[in-house]
Amino acid sequence: MANLKLYDPFEKMQFSDATCFLCGTTITKEQRTPVFGEWMQQKYQLKNKELLLLDKSVSTFGELTIPCCDHCHLNHIIPLEKEVEAATEKGVAGMQELNEQRLFQWIGKMYYGTLVTELIKEADPLISPEYPVSEDPKMLGKFRSFYKVLQSLRVPMVFSDFVPCSIFIAEINPTEDDLPFEYQDELTTMAFSIKLGSVAIVCTLLDNGIILKALGRLNRLVQGQQLHPIQLAEVKARVFYAAYIFSVVPEYFERAVKPGDDHLIMDTLIDDVTNEVFNPWEMTAYAHMLEEMLKPWSIREEDILQNPKQPLSFLIDEDGNFMRMEKYQSIRS
Ligand SMILES: [Zn+2]
Repeated sequence: MANLKLYDPFEKMQFSDATCFLCGTTITKEQRTPVFGEWMQQKYQLKNKELLLLDKSVSTFGELTIPCCDHCHLNHIIPLEKEVEAATEKGVAGMQELNEQRLFQWIGKMYYGTLVTELIKEADPLISPEYPVSEDPKMLGKFRSFYKVLQSLRVPMVFSDFVPCSIFIAEINPTEDDLPFEYQDELTTMAFSIKLGSVAIVCTLLDNGIILKALGRLNRLVQGQQLHPIQLAEVKARVFYAAYIFSVVPEYFERAVKPGDDHLIMDTLIDDVTNEVFNPWEMTAYAHMLEEMLKPWSIREEDILQNPKQPLSFLIDEDGNFMRMEKYQSIRS
């Protein structure tokens, strides 16, 4: 019978270099797996590329590894990385064809990799961070919920009628795109984005697809289009801002296992009766987020809010149609 028992490191806060991140087995310090797949590091020359960690320390993409037993590394991580690598070779179509649950696991592994690195550091008595995430009960509850569905990477699991996350996939126009690789994640809101060549993925990790539904119009508008990098920045701002005001945490429950079962079935519940799903949208907060994303183009909040009712957009024109853009023309020309 398949081993369908879930591991929960949050129960006893088992975060150390001697514990496999995925199954909890005790391991040696040498047993680790890269957070960013080797193939990706090679293809985009990431080994020595700098990466800012949560505690503001600087690491490199190549250095970031997490404790992982050989069994999990060989049987769960490597096949996943191979599958995603093969999909990326087919460009945006390959990514769209990829099973959503696999894509969730792949993004989830990178997100969790940076999170677990922080949790391991915080568990070290010699390090006392200013704002430890491990002492924030609300965040821990969120991480724990997320970890339960991330276990699908190891334990055969079927999500009954949901995908835990929202995934936006877009194709980038090469004309003014000079960044072959781009990566961003936000620990608290669980928003994530990665760009590999011409394919960009923006994801919110623990919303059961609600943000994708809420931004359905935006998603339909960009499908089949080639986005200018500034348009991708705006998509990111909209999705990251939605994650910022998203205010519920889905809970997950595994159904009782019967003899002979070869997978778990996971059900979910979102309490949208006592809680509003989204906090109110605040234009200045959104403008601030957009300003952050538009930094490379030096566009300021006052530019964005020139018409306070209709913030600056590079994606959608006044009639609600997609704005085709190959070259960016400065808004101050
Ligand atoms: Zn393991």
